[in-house]
Amino acid sequence: MRRTAIALVAHDAKKDAMAEFAATHRLKLSACDLFATGTTGARVIERCPELQVKRLKSGPLGGDQQIGALIAEGRIDALIFFVDPLSPMPHDVDVKALTRLGLVYDIAMALNPVTAEMVLAMIEPLT
Ligand code: PGA
Repeated sequence: MRRTAIALVAHDAKKDAMAEFAATHRLKLSACDLFATGTTGARVIERCPELQVKRLKSGPLGGDQQIGALIAEGRIDALIFFVDPLSPMPHDVDVKALTRLGLVYDIAMALNPVTAEMVLAMIEPLT
């Protein structure tokens, strides 16, 4: 049986919150397989160097779509995606496609920190 797989994505205005979230939950996250879009992953690793994070491309360069593909392949259990609702995004269609796949495949999906706390509280990592 594989470990619980979590994808981490944060828009620029939310990257500090994601780094903080990862630091707060570093122990639990260290027992999961972690995937992240490029810059989000870099920020998480910078803050928590002990975490193993598989970094994909930056979101606007296809990273959101790569995570969507992993979801479609059944390889992601939870998506933690800190969305910035106040800024226009050049890759808005990718953002929409990613959350759509999260719904299609019925994975746990948190789009803000308070929900992410709840989702992570429910996860019992398989070790
Ligand atoms: P990033 O991508 O982590 O590479 O910044 C996130 C996004 O904006 O989709």
